[in-house]
Amino acid sequence: MNHRPESEKLFNQAKAMIPGGVSSPVRAFSAVGGTPVFMKRGKGSFIYDVDGNEYIDFVGSWGPMILGHARPEVIASVNQAVANSSSFGTPTLNEVLLAAEIIARVEPVERVRFVSSGTEAVMTAVRLARAATNRKIIVKFAGCYHGHTDSLLVQAGSGVATLGLPNSPGVTPGAVADTLVIAYNDLAALENLFTTRGNEIAAVITEAVPANMGVVPGLNSFNKSISQLCKKYGSLFILDEVMTGFRISRGGWWEANKSEGWSPDIFTFGKVIGGGFPLAALGGRVEVMNLLAPIGPVYQAGTLSGNPVASAAGLATLKLCDHDLYRRLDEYADQVGNGISQLFAKFGIDHQYQQEGNLFSFFFTPDPVRNFDDAKKQKSEFFAKFFHGALDAGIYLPPSAFEAWFVNGAMDNSVIDQVLTK
Ligand code: PLP
Repeated sequence: MNHRPESEKLFNQAKAMIPGGVSSPVRAFSAVGGTPVFMKRGKGSFIYDVDGNEYIDFVGSWGPMILGHARPEVIASVNQAVANSSSFGTPTLNEVLLAAEIIARVEPVERVRFVSSGTEAVMTAVRLARAATNRKIIVKFAGCYHGHTDSLLVQAGSGVATLGLPNSPGVTPGAVADTLVIAYNDLAALENLFTTRGNEIAAVITEAVPANMGVVPGLNSFNKSISQLCKKYGSLFILDEVMTGFRISRGGWWEANKSEGWSPDIFTFGKVIGGGFPLAALGGRVEVMNLLAPIGPVYQAGTLSGNPVASAAGLATLKLCDHDLYRRLDEYADQVGNGISQLFAKFGIDHQYQQEGNLFSFFFTPDPVRNFDDAKKQKSEFFAKFFHGALDAGIYLPPSAFEAWFVNGAMDNSVIDQVLTK
């Protein structure tokens, strides 16, 4: 059991100045109770809090730290960039190099526009899709998270298409009036929606594999079916790879599944491509992407977009993301996920272990989870106990049962053994 008096002290100070004491809600431990842990430094697969406690990290900044923490090559690249100034507000070499790396890895991407967060990437992708089709409606799936842009902060009941209701005060009904939400993996509902309103649908957006309601793999090539429907009705398909991009494989989820023979119209990327800095992007074919200003009429801009230091961190990170890394990440995910699943089974704990590539999570329910309604049926109270047990044993897990676990390339078999025996 580790002690965390400094974290307690800092949290009290933070709460007096920052709403909830955090800069992003999940960090507040609301779902698991207790005091958030304030981290001070990281090295490889370990992070250290302000009280000096050590943890094996399964959050990895929610995805970006795919190589582990403080990787020397990334630090060197960042140092070199920042020594030349942290920002100019002009084009720079680093963003060109990063764009080239992304285009080389993801075949359908011919043009890339950099932004500073996944939220911005998705917001721009939606605007672009509406402009390209001259239609209004965006279809999303309940339980998929695409950032906190107004038009996508909406969820809905299962099965049938419903008109979205805002999911947060401050989002006007008007902002979500053109967002329709259906259950993930419900192809019949999507087909019905296209049959009745296909000529109004600008785009369907989905996480490449949903990992923000826990990990919920698509059934029967669900993404391929979405793509076919979009093609048939002249709608665009936005594949949100903010989480999965360059994490599931060298080129992301799409690349790992390209033998299915389809491609989305717009990709969104984030997390890994910024190497731990605020950087994200959208990409796609020339004719769609060139609708963006200054070539086209669709406005999008950003003071720090394509920032040279963030681009340097992303580029150094991607250069180290080779086939061997993904082979190891898949192996670690298998070992940790299956190992913990076996432990749960030994103690008679009803659960589902769900995995896609190196992303995985557990649901505390006896039945497989295929959509958000299934996910919400789980008994997440158990997770809070499990989370705190792990934290006290020096294992830092995502503080919510609805989040994926992230392995990183600095892990090795001895770290995995520690996790399974602690
Ligand atoms: N899209 C997906 C699939 C995400 O997982 C996230 C963040 O977790 C976002 C978009 C939003 O990205 P950001 O937090 O960088 O705004």
